[in-house]
Amino acid sequence: MNIKNNIINLRSAIPASCTIVAVSKTNPVEKIKEAYDAGHRVFGENRVQELTPKYEALPKDIQWHMIGHMQTNKVKYIASFVHMIHSVDRLSVLEEINKQAAKVNRTISCLLQIHIAREETKFGFSEEEAMNLIFSAGISQFLNVSIEGVMGMATFTSDSDQVRKEFRGLHDFFFRLKSSALPPNVTMKELSMGMSSDYQIAIEEGSTMVRIGSAIFGQRTTT
Ligand SMILES: *Cc1c(COP(=O)(O)O)cnc(C)c1O
Repeated sequence: MNIKNNIINLRSAIPASCTIVAVSKTNPVEKIKEAYDAGHRVFGENRVQELTPKYEALPKDIQWHMIGHMQTNKVKYIASFVHMIHSVDRLSVLEEINKQAAKVNRTISCLLQIHIAREETKFGFSEEEAMNLIFSAGISQFLNVSIEGVMGMATFTSDSDQVRKEFRGLHDFFFRLKSSALPPNVTMKELSMGMSSDYQIAIEEGSTMVRIGSAIFGQRTTT
């Protein structure tokens, strides 16, 4: 795997308006450094235990994105530096992010993860639950979080029509919210969808952030 070439090729294939989050989970810091030396600055991890030591070991101009399901008791370890959390999948985690962000005097950018796949194993709010949260009276009390969009993962399938349908549905939801009068700490700027196997479809369906791991770093042997 030539990480540098993979980055260069992806950059030319993906519109500049779409952010590439290089998903470095399970890859050592040396590999991340190769992508960094190719000019890449936006990385994603799905585990706090892995994110924290990588943050400490690597240059501080990296934007770290948390993309995996989080236990509330782990939020405190990343609150001081995380750039965006894509995987807000329940109210309790949003409350904890707000609390920990307040302690370190930050406002943390968050995306609400929406369950769009057929698999029950994937996390996230239903559209209705996300709407109820966004338009709840309590939302504006979260002064230290900024909800900036939504994230979704399509069903793991080779059926591209199914994947497209799920991405289109999420884009429709995003667009409906974007066109609504939203609370002050909610904006709809980012639509995080698309991974190595389906980012082309995601971009066609309006993605503003793709989360790409194996197409940059090679196939992972572990999850
Ligand atoms: C691992 C992971 C990705 C990247 O997956 P690839 O198939 O390696 O591109 C994207 N999003 C989430 C939430 C992930 O956990």
